[in-house]
Amino acid sequence: MIFEIDHLLRKMGRRSKTPLCFVTAEPYLGHFGLGGVGKSRRLMEDEFAEKDIKALCSATVDEIIPGRVKLNDGTELPFNYSMFAPPFRGVDAIINSGLGNPKGWLMVDEYYRLPKHQNIYGVGVSVGIMPVEPTPVPTGVPKTGNMTTNMAKLAAHNIAADIQGGSKIAYPVTEIGVVCLADMGDSASLMVAKPALPPRQQTILKKKRWVRWAKLGFERYFMTKMKLGATYLPG
Ligand SMILES: Cc1cc2nc3c(=O)[nH]c(=O)nc-3n(C[C@H](O)[C@H](O)[C@H](O)COP(=O)(O)OP(=O)(O)OC[C@H]3O[C@@H](n4cnc5c(N)ncnc54)[C@H](O)[C@@H]3O)c2cc1C
Repeated sequence: MIFEIDHLLRKMGRRSKTPLCFVTAEPYLGHFGLGGVGKSRRLMEDEFAEKDIKALCSATVDEIIPGRVKLNDGTELPFNYSMFAPPFRGVDAIINSGLGNPKGWLMVDEYYRLPKHQNIYGVGVSVGIMPVEPTPVPTGVPKTGNMTTNMAKLAAHNIAADIQGGSKIAYPVTEIGVVCLADMGDSASLMVAKPALPPRQQTILKKKRWVRWAKLGFERYFMTKMKLGATYLPG
């Protein structure tokens, strides 16, 4: 989002009048809650330097009041416009059901079932994944749409096997890979991490203009696929 704002301000010719600051719980730029992906730290630090965006890492927000945010180290940041994402937690339905952990995540086995209730499956953003490493400020493993569709396909296969018989597929969430096309203003980056959690068999990280076009094309393809209910198509 900060790269999109940077790009918009430059297009409007107002960037030199608008300081930008990125406040993150990550220990360094490009950590992504994944301990970094390939050269992500170098890429993100270069990008922030080139775009003249200030970054505060390992930051914890104490309070947000109109026009001002207070961090727990005493720093106060004035702002005209801000966007903050609160710490990620599960939905009330899961928290109240007692099926998840205290944060509202479902801890699933390698078949995407709850170990204690094997007729209940969990996929996607509701699934809990242990952090890859301790960080000064806790950071969670991000869950993407691509991971979600992969988990959903595995769970659907296993539910069908429960009903119709046949073998289930065991594919633990820790082995699921991630493919991400991330907008970066006038460009975008392709990130492939297989598996998402380290150590990895394969990592690709490329910032290229064509990735932006690929993302626009993928969005049209994916939305059409969903509208048609053609879930057997890849992606
Ligand atoms: C701003 C943003 C940008 C993102 N960009 C990308 C991206 O570019 N690429 C990518 O791969 N991923 C992206 N993601 C992540 C992706 O959106 C999620 O990983 C994915 O949507 C998770 O799918 P899901 O089906 O598990 O959950 P959701 O898509 O959140 O679906 C859960 C559904 O359950 C419903 N629900 C909640 N509680 C109840 C209840 N009690 N009863 C009934 N229904 C309920 C919700 O309304 C919702 O419709 C992004 C996420 C965000 C927030």
